[in-house]
Amino acid sequence: MNCLFCNIIKKEIPSEIVDESNHSIAFYDINPIAPTHILVIPKTHIASTLDIDDNNVIYFSDMVLLASKIIDDKEISRDGYRWVVNTGKHGGQTVNHLHLHILAGRHMSWPPG
Ligand code: AMP
Ligand code: ZN
Repeated sequence: MNCLFCNIIKKEIPSEIVDESNHSIAFYDINPIAPTHILVIPKTHIASTLDIDDNNVIYFSDMVLLASKIIDDKEISRDGYRWVVNTGKHGGQTVNHLHLHILAGRHMSWPPG
């Protein structure tokens, strides 16, 4: 299996790492859509939210904790931010390795496109 984000974890593809924990890694999105755009991913391959189960939900919890830590560290919580997890074709998922987007630094509209 050739997975872009697994290759980033293995450092076979360069990325600008923001922070990491035992089970998760965070790096800047290569194509930011907000002044702050960070991706948080599990260090193990989970394709999408469809694959979260009792056995691996710990990885999702760890992603959430790392995202919370980054928001504190970067002081981006003051004006608010958005977390996004896209799943599947209609969800707009383009990389099939679970990832949480942290978007901040501008006013977000709703509903999303
Ligand atoms: P999604 O559309 O929710 O699957 O998000 C995938 C995200 O991965 C997009 O925002 C891309 O800009 C981002 N992305 C793709 N390739 C890279 C890369 N090599 N380094 C960092 N971010 C990437
Ligand atoms: Zn992967």
